[in-house]
Amino acid sequence: MLEPSVEYSLDEHDKIVRVNQAWHQFYADNATGGSSASFLGQSIFNWIRGPEVRELFSYLLKTVRRRRETLILPFRCDSAQKRRYMVMYIDCEDGKNVHFQTWTLKQEAFSKPLSWSSQEPLVMCAWCNRVLISKPLGGERWTEIEDAIIELGLFQREHNPRFAHSICEDCKRMIQYEAAVAPRYLAQI
Ligand SMILES: [Zn+2]
Repeated sequence: MLEPSVEYSLDEHDKIVRVNQAWHQFYADNATGGSSASFLGQSIFNWIRGPEVRELFSYLLKTVRRRRETLILPFRCDSAQKRRYMVMYIDCEDGKNVHFQTWTLKQEAFSKPLSWSSQEPLVMCAWCNRVLISKPLGGERWTEIEDAIIELGLFQREHNPRFAHSICEDCKRMIQYEAAVAPRYLAQI
């Protein structure tokens, strides 16, 4: 059975004006500090890290306000213990206020909890949670975090993960595609 949807709404200036009870619970389970109450009244962009992620999110908001169609986007939001496969519905009926609903579709435990010795931040795709591996001799690719930890030799001591957030090319294309075809896609349901 699906857990209740985690919901929040933005006003026309991108300020968070409403969160539901499930949101408070999700925040309590996942946040490392602060309080969920401080979320309200702030711009959503205060909570989005990485210039590429902000740019894409801004594009998404613009698109959903213009089209007034529901966008449905899969994404990942992993914790240190679990892979979490989620889906996001974004609605905007009046061309101003934007409503988000997210559901966890599936969770899988990592084979071992994530921890590593590196102090260097890893570049993570904010959408699919894959990690960027750059080769010294050139070339970059995005890989599952468990594989990256092994490949980069990061198992050893416990440290809190540090990430720099970005968006991988696959997710960027997927989001742009979904935003472009949403009305046709919905018409087929
Ligand atoms: Zn991605």
